[in-house]
Amino acid sequence: MNAICKTDEIYRGELMVFNDLKAQYLSIKNDVDRRMQGVLDHGQFILGPEVEMLENRLAEYVRSRHCISCSSGTDAILMSLMAYEIGPGDAVFTTPFSFVSAAEMISLLGATPVFVDIDKSTFNIDPHKLARAVEDVKTGVIMSPRDKKYLTPRGVIAVDLFGLPADYKIIKKIAHDNSLFVIEDGAQSFGASYRGKRACSLADIGTTSFFPAKPLGCYGDGGAIFTDDREMAERLRSIRTHGKGENKYENVRLGINGRLDTIQAAVLLSKLEVFDKELMLRQQIAQIYTETFKDVFKTPQVPRGYTSSWALYSVMSSNRDLLRSICDELGIPASVYYPKPLNLQKALSHSGAAGGAMPVSEKCCRNVLSLPLHPYMSEDEIERVLSLKECYLKRVGPFELHAHRVGCI
Ligand SMILES: *Cc1c(COP(=O)(O)O)cnc(C)c1O
Repeated sequence: MNAICKTDEIYRGELMVFNDLKAQYLSIKNDVDRRMQGVLDHGQFILGPEVEMLENRLAEYVRSRHCISCSSGTDAILMSLMAYEIGPGDAVFTTPFSFVSAAEMISLLGATPVFVDIDKSTFNIDPHKLARAVEDVKTGVIMSPRDKKYLTPRGVIAVDLFGLPADYKIIKKIAHDNSLFVIEDGAQSFGASYRGKRACSLADIGTTSFFPAKPLGCYGDGGAIFTDDREMAERLRSIRTHGKGENKYENVRLGINGRLDTIQAAVLLSKLEVFDKELMLRQQIAQIYTETFKDVFKTPQVPRGYTSSWALYSVMSSNRDLLRSICDELGIPASVYYPKPLNLQKALSHSGAAGGAMPVSEKCCRNVLSLPLHPYMSEDEIERVLSLKECYLKRVGPFELHAHRVGCI
């Protein structure tokens, strides 16, 4: 391939990373080290004082009554489904354009994930298709693929993809009219907002992940669950420690070992201090990206009344291969989230997921590309990403440009 934009001369040897956790650590090192040393000194590694302190801070931040920290974003979803006693014969509606956790945990409990296709402009579950899918399950148009029996609609897991909240006003209306619960998978949206409320407080239960690459990440696995319902919070705390009753050695229900390590709580307390500043920087970079790219790619839409936490900045082009090869030439690390819709994943189709074809999700999987965006990018790195526009325009004529944008919508 011909070299373009003389990238070899400009960028050789300067490694750029997708998410610079090392730069973040160096900027908060003293505080992180001090807090971690504090845990080593007091030695309460399980449910030490930092865990409760963190739960209080997180609940305050999200403006939710209760926060139950836990071992991962996946376990947060599992524990929430267990709290609703989800099992065989139950249908839980969710999106096929996401990380696997929600659909996986529904299947793991023996229930049926019913996939509902997404809205093409937000990448989130399409409420109108949700209403139809609920109707289809109730009337037997959608049945259990395993035993061809009627399913009982029980709940919805909406995902705030790439950091943008789903449309909870409509989702909750549809769900509550049908006596379904709503879980918000806010693994990517911690810090985002919707109609004046914070992500993770937008449904009956909100879950999040502190996997290192998420907007708020720790140095290992971690997660949290948020709810305003006191009884639900108690049930979740019980499930988090093997279904404990009055104490750990009285088991009143089945649970898991789902606790967050004290050391990770200490790390998160430190990172929370700089979180709002980081969020602002993400927001600024996203804005610059969109201003620059909006005429050449399909850029992410943030509808009025929403803010995104910009976990990922994803553009679309029907010629993604070209886009990727230009990124490679420029030394811009770009990734595809997600290459395959969940309805086509072997594990899920084999375990009996339902819902039929998902054309919008499939198209997004073919056209989407996430560009590096994190709060510790240097101006040079941002410039390098922005140079993508010029290089792309040198490679495609006006007709192709239009076709690539329209072709992916
Ligand atoms: C990362 C992620 C999860 C899982 O979180 P873990 O902490 O890795 O278990 C779940 N849902 C979504 C949308 C995610 O992005």
